[in-house]
Amino acid sequence: MRVATGLHLGVDIGGTKVLACEVDENGEVLRSTRRDTPDRHADPRLLDDAVTSAVEELAAGREVTAVGLSVAGLVDHDRVHFSTHLPWQEDDTLIRLTERWGVPVVMDNDVACAAVAEIAYGAGRGGESFLLVTVGTGIGGAIVHAGSVLRGAHGMAGEFGHVRVVPEGHDCECGLRGCLEQYASGNALVRLAGPGYADGPAVTAAAIAGDGSALQALTSVGDWLGVGLGGLVSSYDPELVVIGGGASEAGDLLLEPARRAMARSVVGTGHRPLPAVVVAQCGPAAGAVGAAHLARTARSR
Ligand SMILES: [Zn+2]
Repeated sequence: MRVATGLHLGVDIGGTKVLACEVDENGEVLRSTRRDTPDRHADPRLLDDAVTSAVEELAAGREVTAVGLSVAGLVDHDRVHFSTHLPWQEDDTLIRLTERWGVPVVMDNDVACAAVAEIAYGAGRGGESFLLVTVGTGIGGAIVHAGSVLRGAHGMAGEFGHVRVVPEGHDCECGLRGCLEQYASGNALVRLAGPGYADGPAVTAAAIAGDGSALQALTSVGDWLGVGLGGLVSSYDPELVVIGGGASEAGDLLLEPARRAMARSVVGTGHRPLPAVVVAQCGPAAGAVGAAHLARTARSR
């Protein structure tokens, strides 16, 4: 693949923050800046302004070659159809920002972008088929087949977090009930750990420090994650499962219960190879790094 030179930026647009990065051809983040994400019910143009301001700060007067956007929502090429956390809903984001900036812009779902980063620079390098499951505030997923991200007929594949695992279970922000995300995410960690923990990362940090309630919550989340993985492995038979997102910082405290529950939950266990379950390598900037990689390789794809 021809690797384009020039100034390539990746911007990860998540539920709480916008993270913009200048990324080199080796996937290294050279500079980064952040903005707060406006509330979901805010004017969508406020989010345009936040992203634009971050991009302008990084460019610092230099000519930008291309920008990649990694968006926490259902994205189909040039349109954000739906997001649980962003003001962009049924929104012509790509067209508007391309016009505003006057440079090529590409866009994809944030977990698809993180998967691109793991394929190019991380745990999936050299691999053919793997699943990426991100366990952060919610759960995101991407299916990698034959070295590229499987997008589905409408670019919306991989929403593993919203597969129903408990009929009539907890209400989910997406409008459904009993979604995996309600049992195996940062939000579930906080609910299970009980009062006294600010957020998912606080529970994860307490569990790493040996706190009993936090460990119990993390084990339960790992167990539910493994139940979800069992269904996914039965469906896709991947060679590898890569776990990203904030909760993956707990390492084997999360992954060990997940591996055990996965082995219990997959069809034909004991008669089939099971995929290794490993931690993602591209870190918290994976979405931005993958988006920049998409921007860099867009013309040669
Ligand atoms: Zn849901």
